[in-house]
Amino acid sequence: MLTREIARRKTFAIISHPDAGKTTLTEKLLLYGGAIQLAGAVKAKKARAHAVSDWMEMERERGISISTSVLQFPYKGRLLSLVDTPGHADFSEDTYRALMATDAAIMILDCAKGVETQTKKLFRVCKLRQMPIFTFVNKLDRPGRDPFELIGEVEEVLGIGVYPVTWPISAGGKFRGVYHRERKQVFLFELVAHGAEIAPMEVVSLDAPELVEALDEEGARQLREDIELIDAAGDALDRDKLARGEVTPMFFGSAITNFGLPQFLDAFIELMPPPAPRGSDKGPIAPDDDRFTAFVFKIQANMDRAHRDRIAFLRVCSGRYERGMKVHHVRLDRDIRLTNPVQFMAQERTLVEDGFAGDIIGVFDPGLFLIGDSLCSGSPVKYAPLPQFPPEQFARVVMIDPMKRKQLKKGLEQLAQEGSVQLFRPPEGREGEAILGVVGELQFDVVKHRLAAEYGVDARIERLSFSLARWVEGEPVPLAELESNLYGYGALDVHGNHVVLFKGDWQLEACQKAFPKARFVELGGSI
Ligand code: GDP
Repeated sequence: MLTREIARRKTFAIISHPDAGKTTLTEKLLLYGGAIQLAGAVKAKKARAHAVSDWMEMERERGISISTSVLQFPYKGRLLSLVDTPGHADFSEDTYRALMATDAAIMILDCAKGVETQTKKLFRVCKLRQMPIFTFVNKLDRPGRDPFELIGEVEEVLGIGVYPVTWPISAGGKFRGVYHRERKQVFLFELVAHGAEIAPMEVVSLDAPELVEALDEEGARQLREDIELIDAAGDALDRDKLARGEVTPMFFGSAITNFGLPQFLDAFIELMPPPAPRGSDKGPIAPDDDRFTAFVFKIQANMDRAHRDRIAFLRVCSGRYERGMKVHHVRLDRDIRLTNPVQFMAQERTLVEDGFAGDIIGVFDPGLFLIGDSLCSGSPVKYAPLPQFPPEQFARVVMIDPMKRKQLKKGLEQLAQEGSVQLFRPPEGREGEAILGVVGELQFDVVKHRLAAEYGVDARIERLSFSLARWVEGEPVPLAELESNLYGYGALDVHGNHVVLFKGDWQLEACQKAFPKARFVELGGSI
């Protein structure tokens, strides 16, 4: 049963440049999965859910997606979990952690724009993980670039092989549907109002006379020529290369009209590899291992302001989770009971009775968890820590109301635990306020906004001139004395690790010269 349950699970993320169609595609996944009957319903629901948090309001105002939420829904007997990823580059660290919890990514490209800046950045994050990537070329109902040219661009710019599974069909300047290369069938679609419902389609073979009728001479000839050309490239889809992220299956369609969508979705669930074994301090753990193991990849406070709750998101890696079960919290070395965990079925929270490898479960967090924490049953298993991205921008938080010192401290600590900001404190023997470090500057706005909305603290963010942080390894350096010698600013991270903040490479070099036995490393172990 374990094997069957694991094989059903498809946990993935969508990466794309803003406006490529992530929201629309997500909604259509729900429509074709039967979770909703009419597209358009999710948006309304989403707006309502968002209204509970001011922070989400900010997302809406700016038209960016900041949080990482999880959406689970059934699709043709499978259980799909879509882990949402922020599209903005300033939140690439969040994206990386979200991708750590998934088994594949869907990359959406706008057919008129091809590979865009954010696509490149997010793709690089996927590449780090060597994960399977599926490409959906969207907006084919609009004029766009030549499909051969798009394939060339993906191969060249992103450095990944492309295997087109479907091919777009146009006739008389109109997008009509797709040819499925594996099934050797032509799918022609009918337009339905606003693409709100499943679009009816007709299936024809490539050499059937009906094809000419449906497409006209020119359209049919073009399609046959195209297919001959791509088939001449010869190679079949190599599933091993797909699993390692060396080749991406490519699909064409329109998320808005639904043309080409069911072919993409069916192939996606069929080709997506099941959860793979994961590396731990005890070697790789197979998903069907008897022991329950999981790790925390996201913590989010105040998801629902009415409840002021904090939720830790767990990715189940092996074994079976049962409601109320006792698990071992490896970092704290103690047993805890996971009560009332929730799953997020199509935006509604539901209690989870059991869970298997691939599942994402949210548990209420009374302050027990940090990102990267491992949980298990049986003998302790620790998953590799999630890397911390080196912050590039730094600031001090200045309180406007000095009476709120305690709230500010609590707020900053919680935000640091969520991993949305890194916090550096002065070393022992030195006075001073905490310094915030972020990868992207928008994160500062989030901090300011959340401190006000969730902790009632009005604060000013004062930018500092540091531009790099390095963790000290090897021989220690006298943290408290660095600044007076212009060797950087010595500080401690939330775990008490030694860190030096530098104004630039020149300062890092000077410090390295002064302390040749110390190593200044870019990535700070676990979060
Ligand atoms: P996101 O920013 O990636 O989530 O993109 P959205 O799903 O919000 O889509 C951005 C815009 O593109 C919206 O106005 C959509 O209606 C539009 N859009 C999405 N998919 C398609 C498509 O297949 N064809 C056309 N013509 N427009 C689309």
